[in-house]
Amino acid sequence: EQGSNAAPLAFKVNSQHVQYTDSHIFADYQYENATVTKTTDGSYKVNPVSVKYQFKTDARVPRVGLMMVGWGGNNGSTLTASIVANRRKISWHTKEGLKEPNYFGSIVQASTLKLGVDVKGNDVYIPFSDILPMVHPNDLVLGGWDISSLNLADAMARAKVLDYDLQRRVKHELEVLKPLPSVYYPDFIAANQSDRADNVIPGNDKHAHVERIRADIRHFKATNHLDKVIVIWTANTERFSSLIGGINDTADNLLKAVKESHEEVSPSTVFAIASILENTPFINGSPQNTFVPGCIELAERHSVYIGGDDFKSGQTKVKSVIVDFLVNAGIKPLSITSYNHLGNNDGKNLSAPQQFRSKEISKSNVVDDMVAANQILYKEGEHPDHVVVIKYVPAVGDSKRALDEYVSEIFMGGRNTVSMYNTCEDSLLASPLILDLVILAELMTRIEYKTDAMTEYAPFNSVLSILSYMLKAPLVPVGTQVINALSKQRLAMENIFRACVGLPPQNEMLLEAKMQ
Ligand code: NAD
Repeated sequence: EQGSNAAPLAFKVNSQHVQYTDSHIFADYQYENATVTKTTDGSYKVNPVSVKYQFKTDARVPRVGLMMVGWGGNNGSTLTASIVANRRKISWHTKEGLKEPNYFGSIVQASTLKLGVDVKGNDVYIPFSDILPMVHPNDLVLGGWDISSLNLADAMARAKVLDYDLQRRVKHELEVLKPLPSVYYPDFIAANQSDRADNVIPGNDKHAHVERIRADIRHFKATNHLDKVIVIWTANTERFSSLIGGINDTADNLLKAVKESHEEVSPSTVFAIASILENTPFINGSPQNTFVPGCIELAERHSVYIGGDDFKSGQTKVKSVIVDFLVNAGIKPLSITSYNHLGNNDGKNLSAPQQFRSKEISKSNVVDDMVAANQILYKEGEHPDHVVVIKYVPAVGDSKRALDEYVSEIFMGGRNTVSMYNTCEDSLLASPLILDLVILAELMTRIEYKTDAMTEYAPFNSVLSILSYMLKAPLVPVGTQVINALSKQRLAMENIFRACVGLPPQNEMLLEAKMQ
């Protein structure tokens, strides 16, 4: 049960603009920005603007359940085994020696942020998770669905990700965990997945499927005495749904299409609708367009948070750093060529053309905002060549290979070529991202804001663009710009959370160290 009092805080801000009660943190915040207009002579006119916001954060950490769709997959089973190992402090032997569990790769659990400077002017850092009260991953209650009936111990063995000794030591606790039957419409994932689909909800009535998933969420919440549930799609990549007027363009049409079991309503959209109707945040970790316009409207109508699309684990994350660096260094990327090969079930599913196409689209737009931000290097509409290839090579298993070549134009017509080769267990990169997405989405459900023009506190826009750092093709509120540059995405997160405790945005001016 959610306690009536806030968890002990790691720090308190000493300011008349910040107030702490037994349950909440209140902060008055002045948001500074500048609006820019172009004048007739081609120059810009800049108007500084300052808006007062009040933030209200519920500092009581609730009891949270995480339900994964695709629980028995590589990510789902790896995350489950890793949480159990962390929770029970289970160490294991490898040929390198004894290994201890950790949460490396999670920004919330394994990165820090700067709180301020000490009396000598040196930076003071705190764990990211201390900026506001957050759920600890060890406390998440885990559950979910899979079209494959394997229990989590067998699923972990099938995934071939974790060391054998670790598998051995968590096996008894994972054996009893069994995914709930799931929604399976064979047309949406690769045909090569059909042999694992032995745990499916019968029938083709999509409305009944939505109601069944809703009941599953309610039941999970009640039996585990949870305050909140978050649902995340870490199941196979689906093909795109066709966008059809009258079917998935509005919330009402989408609900009607579900009632009529229309063929373009995908399993992931069924899960999203069910979650939204249960007032449960839903995050899409795969690239397909789960969030058709009608689904986004439904989330907004019910004020439920949604986030997506596609975990940003490896190659894209590096890309959103390298291209940002090059363009901001005044160097002009001309081509970006990415080859991937992988041998896990995700790779097998992506070897089918329609599912590969979903991934290709999600990987393709990641440099757009960085290129558009520099009109000196790129004329309007000009863009570097960008090619993505993915191949299934069973022998490499979960250890994905990513080969990237960046060819850039430098000073006086010269060429600079950066070539990169990355090898990494895919699921060990993706699993901590699931934690960050879930923990931060949950935190957002406890933050509200108010401007002077508003009488009541309100939640943020339903589309949680604040989660962009963890997502390859960030979903943003309709009509707002997509930010892909990784450093900007992280700054946005840090600074919004700082605002909630009345602290100004992070700036690295260090004026005190630069003046006499
Ligand atoms: P996986 O194939 O090992 O696991 C997916 C699981 O989903 C399987 O157990 C499958 O049986 C199940 N499934 C398929 N359709 C389902 C449905 N309708 N309902 C319930 N379960 C269903 O894949 P993975 O490596 O765990 O990756 C999961 C997803 O995350 C993939 O779509 C992948 O593209 C995406 N992703 C992964 C990474 C990464 O691992 N680094 C990065 C970005 C995105």
